[in-house]
Formats: sequence, structure tokens, C-alpha cells
Amino acid sequence: MKAFLELDKVSYTYYSKEGETQALKDITLSVGENEFFSICGPSGSGKTTILSLISGMLLPESGSISLLDKIITGPSRDIGYMLQKDHLFEWRTVYENVMLGLEIRKDNTPKKRERVLDLLKKYGLYEFKDSYPSALSGGMRQRVALIRTLALSPRLLLLDEPFSALDYVTRISVQSDVYKIIKSEKITTILISHDISEAISMSDRIAMLSSRPAVVKKIFDIDISGNSPMEKRNNPAFSSVFEKIWKELE
Ligand code: ADP
Ligand code: MG
Repeated sequence: MKAFLELDKVSYTYYSKEGETQALKDITLSVGENEFFSICGPSGSGKTTILSLISGMLLPESGSISLLDKIITGPSRDIGYMLQKDHLFEWRTVYENVMLGLEIRKDNTPKKRERVLDLLKKYGLYEFKDSYPSALSGGMRQRVALIRTLALSPRLLLLDEPFSALDYVTRISVQSDVYKIIKSEKITTILISHDISEAISMSDRIAMLSSRPAVVKKIFDIDISGNSPMEKRNNPAFSSVFEKIWKELE
């Protein structure tokens, strides 16, 4: 697998009036093109910090991060970021929300508009394009937020616990929707999760972090067949993988 994203001995420390907090210590990881890679770890271990560094919003204190052999030195159009909250604007329609990033980039071209409409059609939101977010379910809102990110055609998608605000049943179905979109758009993805089952049901590999300062404790290859997170959960291999990872945490 060609290295698509590479983190080489990345460390990061926050400095504040209260003192310093070392969040990450010598994190080395590589993610392949089209891979679905998850990062799991305890709360406060430094997961969001890793995504902030990959997105170029923070710069490593030591070590380096490169995307396609180019060192990341700041925010880049190649990287799309989706957060736990969907951050949709209630006063804009679905279509207007999805177009927002392109407007900000002054990239609202007929071709891009067509792509956005295609994405809405393909993922079951076209008939809601003139609705306001308040009319949508939590799951639909997350799909809108994902399409807004994909409208910008990023090469790498970063997801920071995007399902954790949803109730259990919605969460399982949105995981499947998001998985289907990611696979069909063939986009390299890094998912942050504190839910091991979720990570197993979606990922090709999972990196397990220690508590702060985070180091990579272990990387697991996940090889469970199934076309959706639901099918993978129902695969008998699922529980043995879960157990193996769980043991590692103890
Ligand atoms: P996670 O996403 O795994 O819960 P974070 O990456 O958000 O963890 O945070 C890692 C550690 O760094 C935590 O102890 C957190 O309190 C600390 N931290 C995060 N952001 C800041 C900041 N802006 N200033 C100081 N400390 C921070
Ligand atoms: Mg976090």
C-alpha cells in the first residue's frame, strides 16, 4: 500500500496559564489511499489533537505529517473535516447549507452545483433540498453535513466522533449511511471514536492510543467481511475481534 498520509514521530504539547499538557508523544502512523482508518483511545488522550494536526490547524511540536509526500504546514483543501455536531445553519435550506463551503471558496460553478445536486440525489436528500435542517432527523442532518464536506472534493476525510451525539438506533443506521457514502465516493477516511464496536464495524485498521500523553499502543488489522457495518456486526468473527481488542485495553 502506498503511504498516503504519514505521521512521523509527532509530538504536541499545549501551553496555557495553568501549565503545560503534553497531549501526544512520538505518534507514528501511516494511512493508505482509500483506507478506512480509525483511532480509538480514552477520553482526553489526544485524539482530537491528532486530527487538528492532520488538518493543519495545529503544527507539530516535533516530528512531521505529510499527505502524498508533501509536509502539511497549514490548512489545505485536500482535507475535509466533520465534527460531532453537524453545525448546519438553521436559517439556510439543505441545498444552501451544502453549498456553503463552495460559496466561501468562491467556487460556486455550474459544474460544482451539479455535483452537489448529484450527491443529494444519490444519498436520498434531493427531495429535502429546499427544507430547513429543523425538518430533518438527526441521521439526515449528519448526511447533509457529510455531503457539505464532500462537495469540496477533499482527498482525505477526518471524522471526529460524528455519531456520538445520536441515540443508539439512529447511530447504527447513520453509521451504515456514512459508510456507504464513503465507500462509494472512494475517499480515504480517518475516524475518531471511543466506541470499539463502531470502529470495528467500519474500519480496515484501528490504532489504539494510550492515555495522555498518547502513544500508539497497538494497531489492529480488521478483516471482517460484510458490505455494511450492520453485516459486519452480524458476522461471527466480529465478537472475537472485539474480545481481542478489549483484552488489549486491560
Ligand atoms: P480527546 O479528543 O482524545 O478527548 P484532546 O485531543 O481533545 O483529547 O485533548 C488531549 C488533552 O489535551 C486533554 O488533556 C485536553 O484537556 C488537553 N487540551 C486539549 N485542547 C487544549 C487546549 N486548547 N489547551 C490546553 N489543553 C488542551
Ligand atoms: Mg476529542
